[in-house]
Amino acid sequence: MHMEKKKIDTQKLINHLNGKWGQVKCPLCNHGQWNISDTVYELREYNDGNMVIGNVPIVPVVPVTCMNCGNTVLVNALLSGAVTQPKKVNENEKEGGDE
Ligand SMILES: [Zn+2]
Repeated sequence: MHMEKKKIDTQKLINHLNGKWGQVKCPLCNHGQWNISDTVYELREYNDGNMVIGNVPIVPVVPVTCMNCGNTVLVNALLSGAVTQPKKVNENEKEGGDE
């Protein structure tokens, strides 16, 4: 067991959101103050309530929360640059490997 916690690149995420969202306001309450989590969470496929260990696809997300009403937007951590893709996954980039 290792306790090392993966720190996310918050600045990169902020830059990404500034570029894509600009000064967007919360769609629910129309306030514009967001809090970006410094922790990555993951979404995993539901499997009849069983915890599946091993090679299952997960979606890494960073919660961005409206500070007024609590509306929480989950931003993909890879797409936004908050974390970088692990090296071993790069095999998927090879062409024609799936047929
Ligand atoms: Zn809100």
